[in-house]
Amino acid sequence: MNLPGQLVPPGDSLDYVMPWLIHELTHAWQYQHIGWTYILRALSAQFRYGAAAYDFGGEANLVKCRQEHWTIKNFNLEQQGEIARCYYACQRRPTRLTSRTSRTY
Ligand SMILES: [Zn+2]
Repeated sequence: MNLPGQLVPPGDSLDYVMPWLIHELTHAWQYQHIGWTYILRALSAQFRYGAAAYDFGGEANLVKCRQEHWTIKNFNLEQQGEIARCYYACQRRPTRLTSRTSRTY
């Protein structure tokens, strides 16, 4: 994959690249904290739930889960990547956080 040399504006055809990278960097962070078992846990979520493994339920569910004292660790590893990706995308183009289940990373 070729990464753009600079941040592209919202709506650019390469606008998906940095959010994708944020998702993947979340996996790097998981590796640093839990070691190689991260890949087994991420694959387990993918095999168990398919594309739904990425679905964290959107902003409304994050608020609900936080009220129930959930932290990022309560979500599966793919959901964690999606939360980070969506947060980044939301910062770039303010919208409500929604889960996307049609693309796997
Ligand atoms: Zn992933």
